[in-house]
Amino acid sequence: MRAAVLYGAGDVRVENVPDARLIEPTDALVAVSRACICGSDLWPYKLMQPGEPPRRMGHEAIGVVEAVGSGVHTLKVGDVVVMPFAYSDGTCAFCHEGLHTSCAHGGFFGTVELPGAQAEALRIPLADGTLFVLPVGADEALMASLLTLSDVMGTGHHAARAAKVGRGRTAAVIGDGAVGLCAVIAARRLGAERIIMMGHHPDRIALAKEFGATDVVKERGEEAVARVRALAGGLGVQSVLECVGTEEAMRTAIGIARAGGAIGRVGVPHYEAIPGSEPAFYNNLTIAGGPAPVRAHIQELLPDVLEGKIEPGRVFDRVIGLDDVPDGYRAMNEREAIKVMVKP
Ligand SMILES: [Zn+2]
Repeated sequence: MRAAVLYGAGDVRVENVPDARLIEPTDALVAVSRACICGSDLWPYKLMQPGEPPRRMGHEAIGVVEAVGSGVHTLKVGDVVVMPFAYSDGTCAFCHEGLHTSCAHGGFFGTVELPGAQAEALRIPLADGTLFVLPVGADEALMASLLTLSDVMGTGHHAARAAKVGRGRTAAVIGDGAVGLCAVIAARRLGAERIIMMGHHPDRIALAKEFGATDVVKERGEEAVARVRALAGGLGVQSVLECVGTEEAMRTAIGIARAGGAIGRVGVPHYEAIPGSEPAFYNNLTIAGGPAPVRAHIQELLPDVLEGKIEPGRVFDRVIGLDDVPDGYRAMNEREAIKVMVKP
């Protein structure tokens, strides 16, 4: 079968690899109908060091179950499923608490340990706990939005929850990538009155406004902090959704948060220590967040997607075949595309 393999910075190739197959009795085999390229895939795409082992990329997919092991009980061949970016058993203490990304037996797709979804098919460990069966056939119109439940929409929702977004509150979203755009949807869905989008790409800002952003701040750094604080009556915003993962983004988040406010961070951090410890302390800020347990969030978000109340699938602005995955990485890295869908 064909699959995308990252060999080094800027070097992703689509190659013939051994067919995905069942290994454990709790595995399922899924034929990928749709996958995508994630903003977080761009980190290794940019920064992979010589000597690091190759990685089979991709952690977001919708597919059809092709085979199940003897220990799989809730899935059958032919089921249309969405695959969260982490696998989980669904039975341990953390899964029961809805924190599937901390599953005692879990892990992540698209890593050195577990081949990813930018492929014709993949093996799903702990399939009963991991996969979510979609109550639809192959409904074309909904597929893009359903695909976002495997990561970006669930991650945006997680940022909003961690930032304590609620009715009547002010929120700011840092980052205009697919997660940031989904965070706008999530903030609006949870009742935020004012949503300030911080970003500077015209196409993304236009979409953010359609998703519910009420204000846009294009500045960066200190200027951005001053602008947001001014927009929020000089006090700062109650909820900050940090969807980037750089030290500068966290510094901005702390700078714009109102005293007593909360920061929900979902951008994978690429810094050693959280900056701004002193202002965060004196302003009684809550800093929360982490990898989103999207498996837990699907249940809450799915009805809104099925009813068309939210349309996170609009973040996809390019659809490619598997052989074009290298160009898809390039396009996302150069900010030519917001998010790329892959149809193997
Ligand atoms: Zn678990």
